[in-house]
Amino acid sequence: MVNEKESNVYDVVIAGGGPAGLNAALMLGRVRRRVLLADSGQPRNAASAAVHGLFSRDGDDPARLRRIAREQLAAYPSARLVDTAVESAARAGDGFEVTLAGGETARARRLLLATGLADELPAVEGLARLWGRGAYHCPYCHGWEVRDQPVAVLGGDDTAAHLALGLARLGCDVVLCPAARRPSARRPATACGPQGYGSARTWCWAWTACRAGTCG
Ligand SMILES: Cc1cc2nc3c(=O)[nH]c(=O)nc-3n(C[C@H](O)[C@H](O)[C@H](O)COP(=O)(O)OP(=O)(O)OC[C@H]3O[C@@H](n4cnc5c(N)ncnc54)[C@H](O)[C@@H]3O)c2cc1C
Repeated sequence: MVNEKESNVYDVVIAGGGPAGLNAALMLGRVRRRVLLADSGQPRNAASAAVHGLFSRDGDDPARLRRIAREQLAAYPSARLVDTAVESAARAGDGFEVTLAGGETARARRLLLATGLADELPAVEGLARLWGRGAYHCPYCHGWEVRDQPVAVLGGDDTAAHLALGLARLGCDVVLCPAARRPSARRPATACGPQGYGSARTWCWAWTACRAGTCG
């Protein structure tokens, strides 16, 4: 362990307090490492009402899970959690120096990036409003909830076709929408939007591989 008298010196600074960062902080706190966990509070699944497919917590509120994890982490005195973004990080000697959004600096032997990712949705009108509550990216997280219902799969590559076949196995009435392959700021792909299918087709499935450039 580093010298505990140096209050801004840690064994590990963790950027990001989602499941990855919280679990890392818990394990490090349990072995009495000095840990600074900085979280800017924008978890990837913020739009979702329930977590699914997680052992012992299926259907639980994601915000509740984060709250419990934070409460449990508080039992470990060597772990400190701050609700602040890590704004910058640089090499300093054989470790790192980070600057938090409020201007505070901290040094650490290790820097753990657990910042998750941000979903970039295809340019489909209305999709952002439905994200996490009717438009999804992951059949394992939400497929069960839309079983036996009409579903539109947005995307025209092999992976989208694979997804469509998988959803059909769940009893979904699937429409594949390859128009979403080419989202464009000038001409949004409204043809595959939720309204485009009439009142029966309330579910819309966004295939977020689009953001990796496979649809552009
Ligand atoms: C709509 C939706 C529903 C989902 N449903 C499920 C589900 O049912 N089951 C399932 O297993 N998975 C689900 N997922 C996937 C799940 O959300 C991710 O796998 C999980 O959130 C990844 O955890 P993470 O800790 O890597 O990232 P995140 O949960 O995104 O956490 C990253 C954290 O880092 C913070 N951060 C970012 N940059 C900085 C910075 N510079 N400084 C400090 N903090 C920073 C963010 O604010 C955020 O709090 C879903 C995803 C989405 C989008």
